Amino acid sequence: MGIKEELGEIEKECREIEMSLKKEAKNLVFGKGNSESEIMFIGEAPGAKEDDQGEPFVGKAGKNLDDLLGKVGLSLEKVYIANILKYRPPENRDPLPEEIEEHGKWLVKQIQTIKPKVVCSLGNYATKFFLAGGDVNLMKVQEGITKLHGKVRRIKFNGVEITLVPLFHPAAIIYRRELIKDWEKDMEIVKSVISGDKEQGKLF
Ligand code: URA
Repeated sequence: MGIKEELGEIEKECREIEMSLKKEAKNLVFGKGNSESEIMFIGEAPGAKEDDQGEPFVGKAGKNLDDLLGKVGLSLEKVYIANILKYRPPENRDPLPEEIEEHGKWLVKQIQTIKPKVVCSLGNYATKFFLAGGDVNLMKVQEGITKLHGKVRRIKFNGVEITLVPLFHPAAIIYRRELIKDWEKDMEIVKSVISGDKEQGKLF
């Protein structure tokens, strides 16, 4: 079975099981994009638009992300993108630790299937999730995105060797335009990591 088919099976399984937030949400938001890509972007949780359409990053933050990716020759179609939470939390409230634990297991399955070389974690939740190896208790002791953005780390995440590049969340960049400069620098690092240029993408 190919990666696409395998992911399809996992998505089907995820759609069928009862899980927290499912009853309050309209749609499962599993993931989208190119599952054969070497690069994955991971966000926090679906918002209202994503809940309506059943796809991640189709709202304001998604439009901004697509624009920001375009600046460095990437697009949402070229990469695979998913969230920690697979259903929208009511009123876009912060994810609860037990939701991160339950929904995050599906993200782990996505990573183990796609086996990306590079994971760009968007914002605090996704970054802490990866640095904590998916362990919710360890997330509390991780540093925040302001300190960590653009710092490349090679980690083993649930059996998959990945290069993690934490980035500011595109929703934050909508309101804090001064972060665009940081984003552009960080994306150069992503590009150099992908092309194997370890000089620029210094490994921490
Ligand atoms: N913000 C996220 O973290 N994920 C989405 O899918 C949309 C907005």
